[in-house]
Amino acid sequence: HEGQEMLSIKNLVTSYGQIEVLHDVDISINAGEIVSLVGANGAGKSTLLMTISGLQPMDKGQMQFNGEDLAKVAADKRVGKGIVQVPEGRQVFKDMTVYDNLLLGAYTRGKSTEIQDDIERVYSKFPILRQKRYNLAGELSGGQQQMLAMGRALMARPRLLLLDEPSMGLAPLIIEEIFEIVRELKDEGMTIFLVEQNASQALALADRGYVLETGQVVLQGTGKELLSNEKVREAYLGM
Ligand code: ATP
Repeated sequence: HEGQEMLSIKNLVTSYGQIEVLHDVDISINAGEIVSLVGANGAGKSTLLMTISGLQPMDKGQMQFNGEDLAKVAADKRVGKGIVQVPEGRQVFKDMTVYDNLLLGAYTRGKSTEIQDDIERVYSKFPILRQKRYNLAGELSGGQQQMLAMGRALMARPRLLLLDEPSMGLAPLIIEEIFEIVRELKDEGMTIFLVEQNASQALALADRGYVLETGQVVLQGTGKELLSNEKVREAYLGM
């Protein structure tokens, strides 16, 4: 259902103990979009993603996924509904093989024949993972580990893919490769919420974007609008 609202977040408040980190956040993501969330270190971007995936509880507000209230849906059940996160820092299992890491991405699913087909599909998207399938994940380069983390997420058959800083620590050419894959996933119909400190590339890729500052959405617009916004150019693009 291209264009239909997939994720709706209203007046979201999330805290760590007594410290409120997200204040009344409103965000909406439509099916088929790439939406980028940019903001400085510590703005609350990762916290927002973890609240969406259910790893961090919300204190107040509403969150709906395809019209369903997420408040009482546990994190593992959200994966089953298609909300799948690629965490910051990849978090691959370094002393397990590439193949076993991919297999783990399918832990919420049943049929093993389908799972093998999906592993093949991941290998065709990331040929390097096929080549290194019997290597330990810890032996991969940073870019390859990012590909593995994305491949592992794809194994859960996401409808909404949450990407937390995929470009972090990677060389420019590898970043381009990763962003190209994000674009391909969109072309295949996936909906993507991309969190990035790398604002220029993230906004260039995005249909729409949001700017988060100290836990509040301060700007939103199309990727183009935000890229040409004075404030964004000064604060996030170094212009
Ligand atoms: P980064 O890019 O550095 O991850 P971010 O925008 O993702 O930044 P968050 O990681 O969401 O920001 O952090 C938002 C705020 O919450 C920060 O002030 C951070 O110190 C605080 N914070 C994050 N995790 C915890 C935690 N587990 N306990 C307490 N405070 C936390």
